[in-house]
Amino acid sequence: MNCPERVNSCRSAEGKRSNPVRKSILIVHMELDDVDTITVLGAGTMGHGIAEVAALAGYTVNLRDIKEGFVQDGYDQIEWSLNKLAEKDRLTEEEAEQALSNVTAYVDLSEAMVDSDVVIEAAPEDFDIKQDVYEELSEVAPDDTIFTSNTSSISITDLSEVTDRPEQFCGMHFFNPPVRMELVEVIRGEHTSDDTIELIEGLAEEMDKTPVRVRKDDPGFIVNSILVPLMNEASWIVELGDATIEEVDSTTKYDMGLPMGAFELSDQVGNDITLHVLQYMHDVLGDAYEPSPQLVRKVDNDELGKKTGNGFYDYEDGDGAEIPTDAISEAIRERLIALLANETGKLIQKGVAPPKDIDKAMKLGAAFPKGPAKLCDESGLDAAIETLEALYEETGAARYEVCDGLREAAEDGGFYGPTADDDEIEFEAIRVEYPTEMVGQIVLDRPQQLNTVSPAMLAEFGQAVDMLDGDDDVRAILVTGAGDRAFSAGADAMSMAGSANPIDAIELSRNGQQTWGKLEDASVPVVAGIDGFALGGGMELATCADLRIATERSEFGQPEFNLGLLPGWGGTQRLANLIGESLAKQIIFSAERYDAEQMKEWGFVNYVTDKNSFEEDAIELAADMAAGPPLAMEYTKKAMHAGRDDTEAGLETEAFAFGHLLDTEDVMEGVTKLQSDEDPEFKGK
Ligand code: NAD
Repeated sequence: MNCPERVNSCRSAEGKRSNPVRKSILIVHMELDDVDTITVLGAGTMGHGIAEVAALAGYTVNLRDIKEGFVQDGYDQIEWSLNKLAEKDRLTEEEAEQALSNVTAYVDLSEAMVDSDVVIEAAPEDFDIKQDVYEELSEVAPDDTIFTSNTSSISITDLSEVTDRPEQFCGMHFFNPPVRMELVEVIRGEHTSDDTIELIEGLAEEMDKTPVRVRKDDPGFIVNSILVPLMNEASWIVELGDATIEEVDSTTKYDMGLPMGAFELSDQVGNDITLHVLQYMHDVLGDAYEPSPQLVRKVDNDELGKKTGNGFYDYEDGDGAEIPTDAISEAIRERLIALLANETGKLIQKGVAPPKDIDKAMKLGAAFPKGPAKLCDESGLDAAIETLEALYEETGAARYEVCDGLREAAEDGGFYGPTADDDEIEFEAIRVEYPTEMVGQIVLDRPQQLNTVSPAMLAEFGQAVDMLDGDDDVRAILVTGAGDRAFSAGADAMSMAGSANPIDAIELSRNGQQTWGKLEDASVPVVAGIDGFALGGGMELATCADLRIATERSEFGQPEFNLGLLPGWGGTQRLANLIGESLAKQIIFSAERYDAEQMKEWGFVNYVTDKNSFEEDAIELAADMAAGPPLAMEYTKKAMHAGRDDTEAGLETEAFAFGHLLDTEDVMEGVTKLQSDEDPEFKGK
């Protein structure tokens, strides 16, 4: 687009009435199907990403910022991002062009509001600025337009009250970057009508996001209400001399299994942002959220984290967040779990969200492998209360005061009650289905992300295999991908994000190897049903199945060499076990894609099938396997796997090699060149 020409371009004002007069309440009713045009206010970090997501979902998007240069920058970033998605085959060229043509840039607010059904405001996080935005908006918006705000912390109720339509107002909180992050918190303000909240939840789903309802307008909503106090407590622990940063981060990451250390996370988010949300919670909710002096000092010294090159870790002159795997402390774990339990209890007690929604939000929005309610239930709520009481007695600090929500949950036997078992787990990144008798199906369920493997997907996949393998009624497992583009296009870049140092990368590799390995270890036969891409980690997953059925159009490949990496989720061992070393080397060394017929010829794919009958054929194959003799199946698998050479030793070498490689200049070169689309020049360093 040539933005300067189209910014301020005149569009007909016919069709919608504008509303120059302030009214106290507007009662208009709009259905999801009526939504066609979305106006995004602010083309910055979040605004341009949200506009891209809406355009990809087929909406007409009016992107508005206060200066031509700002809105042009946002537009250019959308174009860049869509081109990247097309280059990576996540979209066709036509889809990318179509999405871009859905976006028009504006500076004039009234023009941006013509025909607008929903506004998503992503202006700076400052009440006064947002107040001005909404006052102006109320003057020019059509009566039936619904207003939403992407604010991370400002009260939705307060914002709604500066508009002429508090009932038609709610929070629509996307996570950064909106194109990749699945979660949208949909926040009900005090005046929000049911119709509004339901419509916006539906809209989030239309945008291929997963909405989680925040039932009460509470500072921090769900995700930040858990994460920010966790980071604050980590900082208090160090401030009080009870542990070092390394010990706290080692415990959070390698013992509690969170995707990052608490300090590593604060550096990533920006210590100023963490402090800002915390101060707001402190102002509204009281002393339990008193910021740690250490955090305040960091912000005062402009040590804001990665973005300033320095924070709790030194990213400029030091090695960044190098977290030792062996500095785990049981006392720190107990303290942080107790804190999580208390904050989870408070959200439940205040009616902000029930446990399953809290867990869902934390898994999707903060990449927790398990939600805090589940995590705390597993480690015991009585123990959490004991820890908090002891800390309160020792320090008198308000943040250790046990809330009623936690006490009640402990009396009930847990946040999920005494009877919760794995069958009641709500999976987010996968689905478990039972398509026919004796067959349990795991569907990789991130279709918009080509079913790439996130940390939550990995954790849930492991749980699902354990669950199905332990179910006497299941005699075969079928694994497929949702949507019509991919089985799985590999590891999600997010799961690599926290793995920049060798120790983390070794752990990441082992985790993937072991999770996929559960399919080999399962006592029942496993069928992979592949339609579309099976690349990288996705192909390594398919390799662990006992049989593979694929549509003609499917494409297979191990593209890791393009990044200077190696297949780190079992690919260097298990592929050779299956099709022989020579072909495995060809696939890995060439980093090319191979079609289903070729892979059948090489013995990787067992059956090639037509797209139209694929689902039926895959289920039938799994049902055939399920009808076989269970014990003979189990022992045959065991015997065949035991007869292999020493795969375990090979896997260990693979994990260490992966860890070593991630730290090399070659990987940096591969990743940089992938982004710029030039061929990498590897130097062997
Ligand atoms: P940003 O500073 O990158 O972008 C804000 C944009 O709004 C700027 O381009 C600015 O010029 C524009 N703007 C200012 N006044 C405006 C007006 N009157 N009308 C239209 N545009 C206007 O900020 P951001 O990081 O994108 O944050 C935007 C909102 O999203 C904030 O409320 C923030 O809390 C929230 N949020 C941010 C993140 C994140 O990680 N950055 C995540 C979730 C939510």
